[in-house]
Amino acid sequence: MEFNDGLADTEVPTTSAVETEVLIIGSGPAGASAALFLSSLGVSNIVVTKYRWTANTPRAHITNQRTMEIFRDLGIEEQVLAEATPHDQMGDTVFCTSIAGDEIGRIRTWGTHPARHADYELASPSLNCDIPQTYLEPILVKNATERGSHTSFSTEYLSHTQDADGVTARVRDRLTGHEYDIRARYLIGADGARSKVAADIGLPHQGRMDIAGSMNITFKADISDLVAHRPSVLYWVIQPGSNIGGIGTGLVRMVRPWDEWLIVWGYDISGPPPELDDDAARQIVRNLLGVADLDVEITGYSLWGNNEQWATHLQSGRVFCAGDAVHKHPPSNGLGSNTSVQDSYNLAWKIAAVLRGWASEDLLETYSAERAPVAEQIVRRANRSAREFGQIFDALGIEDGDTEEQMRAKIAERAADSPEGARRREALRHAMELKNYEFNAHGVEMGQFYTSTAIASDGSPRPESDRDPELYYRPSTVPGARLPHVWVGDAAKTLSTHDLAGYDRFTLFTGISGQAWAEAARQVAEKLGVPLEAVVIGPGREVTDLYFDWAAGREVHEDGAVLVRPDKHVCWRSHRMADDPAAALTDVLTGILKPGGEA
Ligand SMILES: Cc1cc2nc3c(=O)[nH]c(=O)nc-3n(C[C@H](O)[C@H](O)[C@H](O)COP(=O)(O)OP(=O)(O)OC[C@H]3O[C@@H](n4cnc5c(N)ncnc54)[C@H](O)[C@@H]3O)c2cc1C
Repeated sequence: MEFNDGLADTEVPTTSAVETEVLIIGSGPAGASAALFLSSLGVSNIVVTKYRWTANTPRAHITNQRTMEIFRDLGIEEQVLAEATPHDQMGDTVFCTSIAGDEIGRIRTWGTHPARHADYELASPSLNCDIPQTYLEPILVKNATERGSHTSFSTEYLSHTQDADGVTARVRDRLTGHEYDIRARYLIGADGARSKVAADIGLPHQGRMDIAGSMNITFKADISDLVAHRPSVLYWVIQPGSNIGGIGTGLVRMVRPWDEWLIVWGYDISGPPPELDDDAARQIVRNLLGVADLDVEITGYSLWGNNEQWATHLQSGRVFCAGDAVHKHPPSNGLGSNTSVQDSYNLAWKIAAVLRGWASEDLLETYSAERAPVAEQIVRRANRSAREFGQIFDALGIEDGDTEEQMRAKIAERAADSPEGARRREALRHAMELKNYEFNAHGVEMGQFYTSTAIASDGSPRPESDRDPELYYRPSTVPGARLPHVWVGDAAKTLSTHDLAGYDRFTLFTGISGQAWAEAARQVAEKLGVPLEAVVIGPGREVTDLYFDWAAGREVHEDGAVLVRPDKHVCWRSHRMADDPAAALTDVLTGILKPGGEA
């Protein structure tokens, strides 16, 4: 991909309005990544964002494999890994009465269990990692800006109007109070859970906001001696008050190993909001850590509401919403920032395709068709995961309203040499196993499947693991599924199939006896003006099937073909060579993109 210099003539103020191709509201994971994707595709864009800098609290952190392989595609994976806590330090997730107190159980998470690790290794060229949002957003903004985005901090979106040719947005410079218009062909509202853009276009929503109260407390304290021997990014605390509000139970979350932390602690949202000051925050920290005189530096605190709400449609005309603007849910499963980046990855190439004239505007409708079901799925999953903590409380016999003493006695009872003790231990084992749906939900993370007019179905059903589709991902080339990753290459290099399918083009995979597809792809690309490249996998070709994994997993014959979109989802496949491969490819691409249609 070639990047523009960010100084496209169209962005020079002409009359009263500043002009650009795409205006993005917000520089969080959804907005900053949209800017990165668009700039990488040579689409001019302006980001306006309300505050003077990126996220000021380390909210999102778990960055899953799907997001990491997107970062790999954009050439920033190494930058992210350099700031991240690596995969192998993420997963000894502990449940305890306090960090220094009794350990109730442990579960290996994020694919770190030896029995799960292979699934993760096999699924993607990239492993998951933990990078706090405060570290990730600057990487996204820096790269987007280097590649051409104009980023205006301290600038607030106020309103917009749209017409047949574009969108005019009113924004305010918060330093000077100066208001001005930005004229764009398209607008992306990536302005978070309280999105004004989504409200302005009246996106339809289902579900509810503010169903439980949570507080975040950030602090510094070196507690290596309590945690480094059981390294994890999450330590869950069950103690009096931890079943009130919040995200399931009390959470002590690593921000930087092992001296920077974030606590999530619940409160009853039906009552008045708790009054927090440094002393109150310090007391909560000491309670959850279980060290009465711990030397703690409180660095911040805030209150926030847990939501269970998703938009059922993500677009109105030339205006799209992405990220928390269209899916609002607790942090359980770590899906928020990940899904936000993935929304933008789905949308940006489509906007580029329309702006560059190789697709009609119909393609943009598929953003909603493909991503709204994902929004609903992840909101439901995250909320269910938060509720499933209830089974741990049930297993321990803890009930709402138990006094501190009753709660401690019940937790202690799991150690009793009695039928009740044995029953509690068994119930606890099952309750802990259920948490795999929060912490090892590989199928949820990797198995997103699209059905829309941008996918030419061959009638095959959605591929799902015959184990548990939420826990296990099943690679497949069924149109709509994500391109399976396997390692290919030659004596000098090893590459993922994903490395061969760039974000700036369609890619057609075939084998040696399918070479006529490659010639057809060249002709069709030229005729339609659609960026399309073919990759022939086999000995003596661009890459060889190093481990024979492509042959084992491609699900078509060697003379068949698998067509992959820029976002690495399969949009069509042919099991065998067609009588006229150029005609077959022309049909499928015109069906998906409708180039030359109304643009
Ligand atoms: C405690 C906690 C832990 C979490 N952990 C994870 C995790 O491990 N993994 C994960 O994937 N997710 C996690 N999340 C969720 C994640 O933080 C969000 O899903 C993510 O930030 C959403 O990104 P976004 O870009 O859509 O919105 P936001 O990050 O909210 O960004 C919104 C942007 O819009 C801007 N903005 C708002 N209004 C305006 C306006 N009027 N004009 C201009 N700009 C405006 C803001 O300045 C901001 O830049 C967690 C959340 C919390 C609270």
